[in-house]
Amino acid sequence: MSVYIGLDIGGTKFMVAAADPAGNILRRTRSAAPASLDKGLESLHRMITEAAAGETILGMGAAIGGPLDWERGIVSPLHQTAWRNVPLKEMMESRWGCSFFVDVDTNVAALGEYHYERLQAHRFLYLTLSTGMGGGFLLDGKIYRGKDGMHPEVGHQSIPFRCSRPEAIRCECGVTDCLEALVSGNGIRRIYGKSAEDLNAEEWNEVAYNLGQGLRNLTALYAPDIIRLGGGVAIGGGEPFIKQACRVMSDHLKLVPVPEVGLSKLGYDTALLGAIAVAIHGLE
Ligand SMILES: [Zn+2]
Repeated sequence: MSVYIGLDIGGTKFMVAAADPAGNILRRTRSAAPASLDKGLESLHRMITEAAAGETILGMGAAIGGPLDWERGIVSPLHQTAWRNVPLKEMMESRWGCSFFVDVDTNVAALGEYHYERLQAHRFLYLTLSTGMGGGFLLDGKIYRGKDGMHPEVGHQSIPFRCSRPEAIRCECGVTDCLEALVSGNGIRRIYGKSAEDLNAEEWNEVAYNLGQGLRNLTALYAPDIIRLGGGVAIGGGEPFIKQACRVMSDHLKLVPVPEVGLSKLGYDTALLGAIAVAIHGLE
């Protein structure tokens, strides 16, 4: 049999899976992400060999942090400092002799959600709240791209926030009022001095309020049909957290219809499944 390979190349861990042509995962493997580029690439090649288990590889897809050039497949993930201007597409295609596509993890995750949940939405927004915060916007299943192919950074919008320690808000981009700085894992740690899982009810209320304001802005601008959220913070807060954020969004939206908002059911596999979808369907 022949397989497609999906790679989720994260800052702390790598996940690689082989899937049949229908996208069903046959084998999967994971490992900690090595700090050096050489060891990282070596590790990916080893994981691909293991997942493919000697079967013909029809194509590969990968999710990685931005920024990157998706057409040329050159990556410089912000949180992996050893990876700068790495021609990943060229390296993988010459090593494995099959097509290789790579895109920003949140775009890839959006495609994972779209294909694996069989969404019919014309305008679909996927948001991830994990270490950082970002999103991918699909128009009829195609990734919306900005000027020069740039990836829009929805986490770096400003919002009217509520925060018990406003002096601690600091975004990694250098600004002090970004949504990411208020609702991401790193942002939460900076503000509340603990991880999301240890937040008390009042602190979760603030995070939900701030997320709701972000959802309100995104909905006012894009009027999406469906918004799905994934990532550790969203999963940790669960349905009550999403519902509360949704209420804040609805309370502040007067002219644009309220989209269907929900938690991703794909857990921590959204980007990996998206990578398989990219391997099968390619990118455009
Ligand atoms: Zn920012």
